[in-house]
Amino acid sequence: MKQKINLLIAFSVVALIVLTTVQCYLVKTAYDYKVAEFHTQIKNEIAQITNNYSDIDSVLVAKKEALYKDLSEKYIQGKNNKTDVKKGILGNDYQDILTQRIKLKFERDLPNFKIDFAIVLNKFILYKNAKKADTIFSEKPFIQNRLYGNLVSLNHAFLVRNYVGTTNGTFENQNYNLLTEDSMYVSVIDWEMIILRRMTFILILSLFSIATLISLFVIAIKALIKQKKVSDVKTDFINNITHELKTPLATLGISTKILEQKNIRDNDENFKSIVNTISRQNNRLQSLIDQVMANSLAENELELQKEKIQTEDFLLSIVDDFKIAFPKIDIKTDFQTTKTILALDKFHLTTAFLNVLENAVKYGSNQITVKTRIVENQFAVSFEDDGIGIEKNKQSLLFEKFYRVQQGNLHNTKGLGLGLYYVNQIVKAHQGSVNVVSDLGKGTQFTILLKV
Ligand code: ADP
Repeated sequence: MKQKINLLIAFSVVALIVLTTVQCYLVKTAYDYKVAEFHTQIKNEIAQITNNYSDIDSVLVAKKEALYKDLSEKYIQGKNNKTDVKKGILGNDYQDILTQRIKLKFERDLPNFKIDFAIVLNKFILYKNAKKADTIFSEKPFIQNRLYGNLVSLNHAFLVRNYVGTTNGTFENQNYNLLTEDSMYVSVIDWEMIILRRMTFILILSLFSIATLISLFVIAIKALIKQKKVSDVKTDFINNITHELKTPLATLGISTKILEQKNIRDNDENFKSIVNTISRQNNRLQSLIDQVMANSLAENELELQKEKIQTEDFLLSIVDDFKIAFPKIDIKTDFQTTKTILALDKFHLTTAFLNVLENAVKYGSNQITVKTRIVENQFAVSFEDDGIGIEKNKQSLLFEKFYRVQQGNLHNTKGLGLGLYYVNQIVKAHQGSVNVVSDLGKGTQFTILLKV
């Protein structure tokens, strides 16, 4: 069963991971699609407002073209080399003013977006005649070749469009053609936020579905584990109670059989001894039933009969009774408090303290020390034994109903797993708490804290 649950959990975890991955993939795809859609929208909107720079300022563009012509002619004349032409273009006087104009146009015509842009020069090719092309300049788009704009890097920008310009002219009876190519790169400020805003619905929906899935998964697994625990506890309880009932029932069976023999009935001593055994076993059965009944009460059904008592005297009387019942056990007291008056239910607390003391004996102790202290304004009673001890990982379970620490599959000692549960319920009903400190093989210390 445990293996099945583990397998189920493993499968569900894998399914959950796969589903979450698919969901993330879908969100990422939707994001990429939204980015592409956004780029297309910006490209279209920019295309609508500018076909060429001449739309923006024809006078400036004409001046720029005159400069290009001038540079080309000087190059043909041999007054300029290629580097001079490039410098002349990239350092032209119209850059700032054209940048301002384009920026203004964007602000006016695309008021919803804050746009940074760069127009970079890619090509500057001269055709002195139809056959011979003289490439003065041809590079991939590169921010250092920025003609206009305020972008400092092309890394997060996207290409909006290329502008190809051709001019022809005649110089010293020689015809020439000039071909230029510029690219416009754009980066919309806060574009991630714009896209995330457009994806809000998808994001909320997928986060909600993943959260629902994980919550359902956790709830289902928790319920399964709880169910398994309840079923384990029930099986344990049935095993334990069967085990507990077997001895008295077997003894009763044998005793009845013995009593059927006439010679036993005639012998007074033997008869008395058998009747005593029957009565003892009967009491034992009764006490088992009482124990189960007492523990079937819920916490709030417990009705305490509190009275003000001197706690140290009360503990001494319990220790004295215990000494009579277990004369071989060495029980000591170490009281660091005196005459502490507390309002306690004597009957329930006697049973609870005896449960702890009897457990010490049941689980291998020969020496017990009962201590009292004041700890953080609370009255602390500790029962320290030198028994078999309890593993650390089992300690938190001790106070659960029907819980017993198993040695393998065998219960070497008798019990129903109700003793400590009862102790905890009674102490809690007194608004106190119980804690345990134990080292396997060395011993155990149960401390009960009560309000002063
Ligand atoms: P039971 O004694 O009937 O099993 P309890 O509720 O009294 O049930 O105790 C629960 C479990 O705690 C026991 O099964 C035992 O393994 C462990 N335990 C309790 N007291 C001690 C102790 N003093 N030393 C070692 N183990 C203990």
